[in-house]
Amino acid sequence: MTAPLTGKKAVVTGGSRGIGRAITLALARSGVQIVACYRRDAAAAETLAQELKEIGADHQVLQADVTVAEDTERLADECRARLGSVDILVHNAAAISHVPFAELSYEEWRRVLDTSLTAAYLTIQRTLPLMSAGSSVIAIGSRAALAGIAMRAHYTAAKAGLVGLARSLCRELGPEGIRVNVVAPGVIETPDLRIPPEVRDRYERMTALGRLGEPEDVAAAVLFLAGDASRYISGETLHVDGGI
Ligand code: NDP
Repeated sequence: MTAPLTGKKAVVTGGSRGIGRAITLALARSGVQIVACYRRDAAAAETLAQELKEIGADHQVLQADVTVAEDTERLADECRARLGSVDILVHNAAAISHVPFAELSYEEWRRVLDTSLTAAYLTIQRTLPLMSAGSSVIAIGSRAALAGIAMRAHYTAAKAGLVGLARSLCRELGPEGIRVNVVAPGVIETPDLRIPPEVRDRYERMTALGRLGEPEDVAAAVLFLAGDASRYISGETLHVDGGI
């Protein structure tokens, strides 16, 4: 009933580390051609490129800061040149910090909103001319957008913004056959997330499944929303949080 992803073309923002890396590798293993971008960690990007090569994926890993409009245009140009069209766009890049609201500087508010939310506007708008009926846009949100988190008002506001963006774009792009959804992870253990043992225990007990998430758990949800199996789902937020 459902077609495989083989031969599809995808762009992933922030594909070099953590969840973005898992998404990029999962897409590549499914036979998808990939353009992935990163901001500044060239070593992580090189490792990803090597992993993609070992999979045998047609890939391009390039530096592009998605908060910079010119960079998102360059990213779209690279997709046009390398892929010709885009079936799957994953906006994964984000910024986060832990700051009491009263001390949250305007610069920090802007940095987090720019990376998590405004970059989604830039990337989706610039890539839209390459998309057509059957294309799928997936923004990586957060469970925090629903629950709220103290000291992370800027981050949660940005992630909640992605939900509104997806719902509006679902209506606007639906007539063209383009779907727009959000994947909202809970606590996902990436190599960079160093959780103290006592906090880890509390987080684990918060979940119904009794464990933290793995980047691959999020990637699996992205594969589902990228493919034909989810062809009648748009404007939705899919929570990947172990039942928190
Ligand atoms: P990481 O910090 O591990 O990785 C972030 C990635 O995004 C890196 O590849 C980074 O590249 C890239 N990136 C950051 N800023 C930019 C930018 N301006 N332009 C281009 N690329 C950029 O993040 P996680 O894997 O932890 O999170 C991935 C997504 O999942 C985010 O949207 C996050 O909010 C969301 N999420 C994560 C959770 C978790 O528990 N980990 C929970 C809920 C949501 P570089 O290293 O070069 O800067």
